[in-house]
Amino acid sequence: MESFDNGGLNVGSLRAFNLSLMCKWLWCFLGQTSAIWANVVKAIHVEFGGLDGSKLTCSGIWSNIINAFNKAKQDGSLPSNVIRAKVGDGKSIRFWLYNWRGDGMLKNKYRRLYHLETDKNCSLADRKENGVWSWSWNRNDIGDRNRSLLNELMLNIGSISLSNNSDSWGWVLDNDTAFTVADTRTYIDTCLLPSVNPFTRWVKCVPRKINILLWRVALDKFPTRLNLSRRCLEIQQIGCVSCNYCVETLKHVLFDCNIAADLLRRTRMWVDVDLPIFSEWAEWIAWFDDWRERMDVKDKLYTIVAALIWHIWTYRNSVIFRPPMKKLLLFDSICFTSFSWYSSRGKSNVTWNEWLIKPL
Ligand SMILES: [Zn+2]
Repeated sequence: MESFDNGGLNVGSLRAFNLSLMCKWLWCFLGQTSAIWANVVKAIHVEFGGLDGSKLTCSGIWSNIINAFNKAKQDGSLPSNVIRAKVGDGKSIRFWLYNWRGDGMLKNKYRRLYHLETDKNCSLADRKENGVWSWSWNRNDIGDRNRSLLNELMLNIGSISLSNNSDSWGWVLDNDTAFTVADTRTYIDTCLLPSVNPFTRWVKCVPRKINILLWRVALDKFPTRLNLSRRCLEIQQIGCVSCNYCVETLKHVLFDCNIAADLLRRTRMWVDVDLPIFSEWAEWIAWFDDWRERMDVKDKLYTIVAALIWHIWTYRNSVIFRPPMKKLLLFDSICFTSFSWYSSRGKSNVTWNEWLIKPL
């Protein structure tokens, strides 16, 4: 389910998708202030719909959405200050109650000053008139400690200047942008889902399904008989279907079994590269990554090995599920399949004769 960057297949989790769709309602609530449904929410709940952290006393769908949103912020699935007011003329931004600085509401940061405020719902424009800060405290002398806090607050917000544009909203994930379900879903999945190691290799020369197949090889997530029995499936026998001599592990099927070893030997002679004897996928990848060659040559070899692995596994399945493929034709099929993949996806042109005689 993880994203490509985290080594997965970028499928995404339903939980993140569901939460993102709920967040879309919040975003619409902020943008559609005059819509009937938004006014109904405001009439039932508090004016800001609970987005400022105020507690909703009435249960229902909106309350459930707000609770899910708050929970996501608490467990780190979403940034705590994901909703940010963008300052324009400052008329619709509640000075103390909106996150317009990007670091949370001022009422939480300067609680003592907030208690001294006479108009708790005052706007930013109310507090900054004609470029000058103007305050309204509920007593004349706010005391030295509060004056010190006020100086700190003014240092914090001193750079803010109002414009003639209307205020707007931002959805701040990694950067300050407008809300999208896709971005939000990706962000939540990145927080919730563990990264996968080893990563998926998306090599363009081979089909997508083969890249996924090789990724499953790297993770040892293949449905070999041993792996199936480990998952408590009733398997009559766990021996290799080709040789019936060893336990059918992934390592045995793809590298150790007679037919795999024979195909690998013939492939090594065909590509004319001094390939070491690999006993598992990780060894091949380590060797391949260290192999100093031109990129197109590396792409060709990777394509051939991918075709080799795919054919070994397809042959194994054919033995179990349908009349087995002819062993004698396997190597020819590897040559043709790898040519077909590379010639249709690779960057350099190659003819069938060239591929047969000297593929790399
Ligand atoms: Zn075998």
